[in-house]
Amino acid sequence: MNVKNMNTPPKSYLHKFKKLLNYVLRSNEFYRKKFKAAGVTNTNQINTWDDFYNLPFTTRDELIKDQHKRPPFGSNLTRPISEYSFVIRTSGTLTGKPFQQPLTPEEFNRFADVMARGYREMGVKKGDVICYFTSSYAYPLFYETSRLLGTRMVPIEDYKSIDFFEKIKYLKINTLHSFPTAIFELIELAQERHIDLKRLGVRKIFTIGEVGGGHPPTKAYFEKMSGAKVIDHIGALESGTFATECTNPNTYHILENLFITEVFEPSSNRPAKKGELVLTSLWRRDYPLIRYRTGDMIEIDNSTCPCGKISPRLKGGILGRTTGQVKLRSYFIFPEEIERTIRQYHEVKEYQIICNKDNGVDNVDIYLEISVTTNKDCFNMLTAQLQETIGFQPKIYPLLPKTLPRFGSRKGKRFHDFRITQGQTPFKISPYRKAIALLLIFVFNWNNRLNNFRKYISVTENITR
Ligand SMILES: [Zn+2]
Repeated sequence: MNVKNMNTPPKSYLHKFKKLLNYVLRSNEFYRKKFKAAGVTNTNQINTWDDFYNLPFTTRDELIKDQHKRPPFGSNLTRPISEYSFVIRTSGTLTGKPFQQPLTPEEFNRFADVMARGYREMGVKKGDVICYFTSSYAYPLFYETSRLLGTRMVPIEDYKSIDFFEKIKYLKINTLHSFPTAIFELIELAQERHIDLKRLGVRKIFTIGEVGGGHPPTKAYFEKMSGAKVIDHIGALESGTFATECTNPNTYHILENLFITEVFEPSSNRPAKKGELVLTSLWRRDYPLIRYRTGDMIEIDNSTCPCGKISPRLKGGILGRTTGQVKLRSYFIFPEEIERTIRQYHEVKEYQIICNKDNGVDNVDIYLEISVTTNKDCFNMLTAQLQETIGFQPKIYPLLPKTLPRFGSRKGKRFHDFRITQGQTPFKISPYRKAIALLLIFVFNWNNRLNNFRKYISVTENITR
């Protein structure tokens, strides 16, 4: 039994949900069985929000298990399987388990429609020319979204190619859509080639995922370097576009009329202002997701926003994953908190965070790619801030630029926990770079130089072993 949720949505959402449920209960085996076990077989049993809140949660694990039992898509299909014409899936990078979500043509259109609404909220106008840095399997959805918006979509195979910047100018691309990782790389490439991004004509950059576009220092850096306005948004395969950034910093508005949003304290399952996002996509009918536990941590604010919008808003976007919180010594922390601290410093071009055990004690190694001209005070400030964020002093290793892996248009993986399962450190350092890194350590930490020298030798030996 769930306590009444404190974020009660408007009554009209309940009517919408009943319509959806009526459709789903007719032919969807997964939800028919699930809700029957909870005593709900008919839409007439759902008349109040309390009735809704008594419906059981749906978890990703449950749906993946169902897919394994009944491959490829499981029993959560409202339409006959032959009607599903497109498949989207998660890579499973975070969870280790890919999750398939088939779409019927109608659901495909609804998906594109939700995305188009998100882009309109973010200020996309008819005639804009957009380049999406995304995996090509999602291109059909982006194309349909672009068609609905009246924009022109330019597929780009490799933004690292020598003529990419010329293509932006020649094709008059004025909008980019990307993970923050690729924008960092784009800025780096432009600097190397002595190209002024501000002169290319890009006016808007939409970021999604990772720590980045919504993080004020990163946003300011992107805007300064590109001359474009940077707007962040939140979305997933389960929701399409879910929320877009407000003009007020650190605030995201949930798209109206599309979702029932609930928030729960993950361990106690009690409604909360800050906790796990539980989502019902009102537009997902053919692969429905009802009271779906997203695993994303959010903080919700139901008060009217200074911008005038009354729809609920998220403070700070996605704060982390419920399963992503790690315990380091006696401190609980989301890896994203460490990333946010590092991303405040634009001197850091790339980084990797590695947790391991040193004589049974939790240890954090942070590798930072920084330019040789980085100011020593800035480096010391970052070191101090990392200690404050983590709760104890991590070992910090400055490295030369271009030492650590890049991720292209994929999501970056920069946090590795090797305390329980021994993993392979995802990068190797050449003797030349080692020597320069040693020099950097010498410059930055001359007070502790001998101490760091010893630490550095032992760590780099471990890495290249
Ligand atoms: Zn607002």
